[in-house]
Formats: sequence, C-alpha cells, structure tokens
Amino acid sequence: MRLENKVALITGGGSGIGRESCLLFAAEGASVVVADTNEETAAETTRMIRDNGGQATHVRADVSKAADCQAMVRHAEETFGKLDILFNNAGIMHSADSDAVHTEEKIWDLTMAINLKGVYLGCKYGVPALRRAGGGSIINTASFVAIVGAATPQLAYTASKGGVLAMTRELAVVHARENIRVNALCPGPLRTELLMSFLNTEEKKQRRLVHVPMGRFGEAKEMAYAALYLASDESSYVTGTEFMVDGGLTAAYVTPE
Ligand code: NAD
Repeated sequence: MRLENKVALITGGGSGIGRESCLLFAAEGASVVVADTNEETAAETTRMIRDNGGQATHVRADVSKAADCQAMVRHAEETFGKLDILFNNAGIMHSADSDAVHTEEKIWDLTMAINLKGVYLGCKYGVPALRRAGGGSIINTASFVAIVGAATPQLAYTASKGGVLAMTRELAVVHARENIRVNALCPGPLRTELLMSFLNTEEKKQRRLVHVPMGRFGEAKEMAYAALYLASDESSYVTGTEFMVDGGLTAAYVTPE
C-alpha cells in the first residue's frame, strides 16, 4: 500500500475532491482525519472509510479560524500519534463572486479568508506537526484559474488561488531542508457540486468546456489519484510544483472541435 503507516489530514473532506482523497488515502493504508465545516458530511466520509475497513476520525473545523486549525492538527496527533500528510483542500467558489465591478467586498473577504488564509493557517499549525513527525508532505489545492484567466468572472476566487500557488512555492523553498515537501494541485473544471452550482446553466457549462481539449469535466477521483502521488514517498524529489490535472486546458491555444 502506498500510504502505509502515514497519518493524513484532509480539509474539505466531506465532499468532492476531499472526500475522494480521504477514501483513496485510507484504502492505501493511511489513517485519515476528515476535517470540514460540515460535521455531518465529514462523519459520513469517516463511516464510509470504516465500512471499508480503514482508519478514520473526523473533526469540525473552519479553516478560516486559527483555533479550529490548531484543534484539527491537535486532533490528528492525539488520535493517531503524528501527522505526515496535510492536504489543505477546503475552498469555496461563491455564486456572487464576479468581476471587479460587481464583486462585493464581503464576498472578496470571505473567499480570501477560506481559500487563502485557510491554507496559511493549515500550515501555521501543520508545519510544526510535520516537523515533529520528521517531515512530510503538504498539498494545497489551487486551480487552473491561478494560471489562466477564467472566461466566467470569479475574481476573488481566481486571486485567492493565485495566492495559494505563490504561497506554495515559498513554503516549498523554506521547508525543503526539513524534509517537508509542499506542492500545489491545480485541478481543471470538475463535475463536483462546487463548480456545477456555479456553472448553473447548460450555456455556462458549455462556455467552460470549450476550453478543455478532452471535452469533458474532470472527476474528483482523478484529483484524488494525483494527490495520492504527491502525498506518497513516490514523489520524494517533487516540491514546489504546480501539478496541473486539467484535461489539457492550460496546454491549449485552440481546442479541437
Ligand atoms: P466541494 O464543494 O465538493 O467540497 C468542498 C468542501 O469544503 C465541502 O465539504 C465544504 O463543506 C468544505 N468547506 C467549505 N468551506 C470550508 C471551511 N471554511 N473550512 C473547512 N471546510 C470547508 O468542492 P471541491 O470541488 O471538492 O473543491 C475542493 C477544492 O478544489 C477547493 O479548494 C476548490 O477551490 C478546488 N477546485 C475545484 C475545482 C472544481 O471544478 N470543482 C476546480 C479547481 C479547484
């Protein structure tokens, strides 16, 4: 198994990429801490793992709150004795997020608090835990919109993910000699609740798919497999990367008909 004897904490573990990663990491031998603001869905993920014979616990945590991030890391160490893998994955894409003219400041602030500050707070409390474990792997979920501009405006989201990418590079450099690797996962557009509720008409969905050479949305499970590689020792010489898992979106100038 690829994550045997590892302890992984995954934020946003109640849904989408986070849930699929919890399930996959547990199936590969990791003990998993499912962190989410939604305690019910986090508990459901935990149940699913245990039903498959895996090890899991869940904790209610809002990643924009320092006390919650401190508590989720403590929960991991108290329950499973250490922390090896921190997957800062929780994020929102607010339906009122738009262009500069129309995005309200409160939507900007909320998006930054969860998507960007949440990653900083995860690392603030997670890095000392990884040090105590002798090193480890941090994965931060960014997005393809951190690399290329989105056709459907979502300025706060885009800016927050650009910040995640910049932060990931610096974290990788700063902690490289401590055996702590830090990588960003850059998903393309996925068929998850988060994006489908934002692209809520067929026209908006098609507008987005025009840019994807593969001509389809990605699946959360496809992100989980990419995260598994970054979490495991197989990626032991990989740090500071922006791992694109986007159906070719950022490679394309013109997509095939
Ligand atoms: P999702 O909505 O299915 O899951 C997100 C989870 O995060 C939910 O369980 C939610 O309760 C939780 N969450 C929200 N705010 C939180 C907070 N403050 N603290 C803790 N948990 C919180 O979304 P997803 O598609 O799985 O997205 C996961 C990550 O992937 C996000 O960072 C998102 O920005 C990124 N992403 C998604 C897509 C896509 O197309 N879906 C594309 C690129 C990047």
